[in-house]
Amino acid sequence: LTKTPVVVPAVGPARIPVPQDDLGEFTEEELAGALDRRELRVFYQPIIECAAGALAGFEALARWTRANGQAVSPDVFIPFAESTGLIDRLSDQVVSQAMAWLTGAFPDTALLLSLNLSARSLSDETLADRIAQACRQHAIAPARIILEITETSAMSHSITTLDLVTRFRIKGFQLSIDDFGVGYSSLVQLARLPFSELKIDKTFVISAQKSKESRSIVKAIVSLAHSLELRVTAEGVEDEWTLGFLKELHCDFAQGFHISRPMEGGAAEKWVRERILPDRYGSGIDRADP
Ligand code: C2E
Ligand code: MG
Ligand code: MG
Ligand code: MG
Repeated sequence: LTKTPVVVPAVGPARIPVPQDDLGEFTEEELAGALDRRELRVFYQPIIECAAGALAGFEALARWTRANGQAVSPDVFIPFAESTGLIDRLSDQVVSQAMAWLTGAFPDTALLLSLNLSARSLSDETLADRIAQACRQHAIAPARIILEITETSAMSHSITTLDLVTRFRIKGFQLSIDDFGVGYSSLVQLARLPFSELKIDKTFVISAQKSKESRSIVKAIVSLAHSLELRVTAEGVEDEWTLGFLKELHCDFAQGFHISRPMEGGAAEKWVRERILPDRYGSGIDRADP
């Protein structure tokens, strides 16, 4: 096999620009203090099955509000935590908070939990053990945990990634390539690495209704994922039209403001009680074991 270069055109910005008011200056001490006092909160965004609309699970998203009341975007404090070495503590807090919430709120279901792993953590050999330990502590089967790694970090060091992916897979976790379509994956890497899912970058999904190019890209990613026997999730579903478009393409899962914004734990529980029929959740295990 020879290396096939780019699979999917790299179009669009990798990140939505951070609003200027998110850039208020804070120090390492301030973020460290917030971690000491366990002030970071986790919000939960529902992920549904496109076909039936059943709830599959949630993505955990970190939130930080400073003492002065200013909310800082994770697109700002996550890279900051990575560069200052606070990321390990931050990740551990997100992992335990999210697992405690999920098992407390939905004790008798097999709902899935998607967790974001930072690029820097990829080289941390203890990470898989720490997440496995948290799973045991909260009695969650590792197959219900989907670890999301951005395409850019997943594909930048193929050797490290193969080690890492294998380490996580041996422990039974699922792995997802986040923000897929804006980085550079090779077909060879995609086929060889035991990922479970591709997550289409939201820039393509948000613009699908208006842009033929975005529709073509979404369609190509869904078909690529299925050819490689990977599941595919679309994030950034902001309207009914887009959800219908994804259903037609047989995209597996959808997430976005049209379904729900990320919510704090209590609100997410309420959302499930009000919006999801009891027989429409817990089917998450279908996703865990396709
Ligand atoms: P991501 O993992 O790609 O998460 C999806 C982002 O898209 C979230 O932004 C979510 O609020 C947003 N989103 C979801 N649906 C829609 C939609 O329909 N329209 C639009 N415009 N946006 C939507 P958020 O929460 O600001 O997080 C940004 C990024 O920060 C995440 O991107 C992830 O890479 C990172 N992040 C968040 N929490 C954590 C964490 O605990 N650990 C690590 N390592 N990274 C995190
Ligand atoms: Mg993610
Ligand atoms: Mg993403
Ligand atoms: Mg992202």
